[in-house]
Amino acid sequence: MRQRVIELNDVRCILGHTNVGLYESYLIDTSVIDVPLDITAILITHGHGDHFTWAGTLQKRTGAVIIAPKEDAFLIENPETNVRGLFNWARPPVEMTTKFFLGDACGVDHYAEEYPFEEGIAPVHLPGHTMGHTGYLCDGVLFAGDALYSKDIWERHKLPYSIDVELTRRSLKTIQNTTFDWLVPSHGTIMSKEESAEQIELHLNQLTQIDNMILRLLSAPRSTEDLIFLVLKELGIEDNLAKYWLSVTTIKGHLSGLVSTYKVAYTITNHRVYWQLSEDLERVK
Ligand SMILES: [Zn+2]
Repeated sequence: MRQRVIELNDVRCILGHTNVGLYESYLIDTSVIDVPLDITAILITHGHGDHFTWAGTLQKRTGAVIIAPKEDAFLIENPETNVRGLFNWARPPVEMTTKFFLGDACGVDHYAEEYPFEEGIAPVHLPGHTMGHTGYLCDGVLFAGDALYSKDIWERHKLPYSIDVELTRRSLKTIQNTTFDWLVPSHGTIMSKEESAEQIELHLNQLTQIDNMILRLLSAPRSTEDLIFLVLKELGIEDNLAKYWLSVTTIKGHLSGLVSTYKVAYTITNHRVYWQLSEDLERVK
């Protein structure tokens, strides 16, 4: 994808596979290598490789400090952790590893939550995509990272990554309640505050639809593996090892949300975990 630079308020946005911001001497995310040498700080939204790819190289080149959310710092300092987490801490075969979890490790100098930002710039905690996922609000422009999936993302990915669906919902409400002129998602098209309201509603609706699909598929108790099969089949998700494991996490993210809201319960029988509707389990008791 070709890069394109646009200006919103006093912020420059470098649009590409991962959209990047440049505000005064702050760089937001690092998927580009061609940046002014006078940057003083690199702000990372979260610990996925497509957001911190060049952080280490840019730090060496510019001397900028690296600032990242506390709960994601370990993923940036040791991306292997993310790869291991995906496979229950065992080491997955290489074909099962997504490129989004790889990347050159680099040290984090400051946590976003503790850094004394100057006026005009503030971190906005938006967890759900990862535990520490954080957006940055610069001069009325919200760099929202991967917290909001717009229509174009949903058209390409039927089950975009979320580790905690309830936190994702809460973060979407946080975006709704934040004042800004423009929202720059890390992937996809820039939107105005007004357009973001529509996209937030779409994202929330999609999450509800996936929840409802899972509840429908649990009309009978299903093992984890069977439920994953049924969800992927219904959504028509292609067979790809790396995508499969990302989908497994997202389906589990939905399941844990449904458990925490008392809609789904679980049992273990014959060495298999079964998921079922809470009301059905109550009826059996
Ligand atoms: Zn991400």
